Amino acid sequence: MDAEGQQRLEEHFRNVPDAELRRITTIERHQYREEAFQLALDELARRGLPLLQPDEYWSAYRDEWLAQVGFCHQCWAMTTDDSVGAILPRRLVGMRLLEEGTPCLICQSVVATKWFCVVVPVVRQAKYRVLFDRSVFPDPPKGRRLREGADSAEHVPGGPTRS
Ligand SMILES: [Zn+2]
Repeated sequence: MDAEGQQRLEEHFRNVPDAELRRITTIERHQYREEAFQLALDELARRGLPLLQPDEYWSAYRDEWLAQVGFCHQCWAMTTDDSVGAILPRRLVGMRLLEEGTPCLICQSVVATKWFCVVVPVVRQAKYRVLFDRSVFPDPPKGRRLREGADSAEHVPGGPTRS
């Protein structure tokens, strides 16, 4: 990163609200190049804010976390950053999400399986936790892929989070 790029990024982080800066530094580290992330950490320090672990962020700023992330900490932790990708619900041929189970009481996400469909579901793809509320999250729905071994059966929707 050249000096000009660094200065622009510094200015960018300087204008980011605290909530967004917390989201970036706590859960989006891997999305940034190391030198760019360091600038976000510098801005956090400049504001006198601590660098939080995800569970600390969730405990201390629950409403802010939900507004920033959408998923609650438990649903977030059982999934990866892989998103649902292109979903074409109104076509005869294409990807569709089929819901399973009951929504999480905290964030309302549901487990859904992505299927390749030719009129009916034909080829099963991966499982996701998905936020279907179109009034909050426009198409495509916001989804995170379930980790291997994390299945809906193990999830008590809205149950107490282990601490
Ligand atoms: Zn949840």
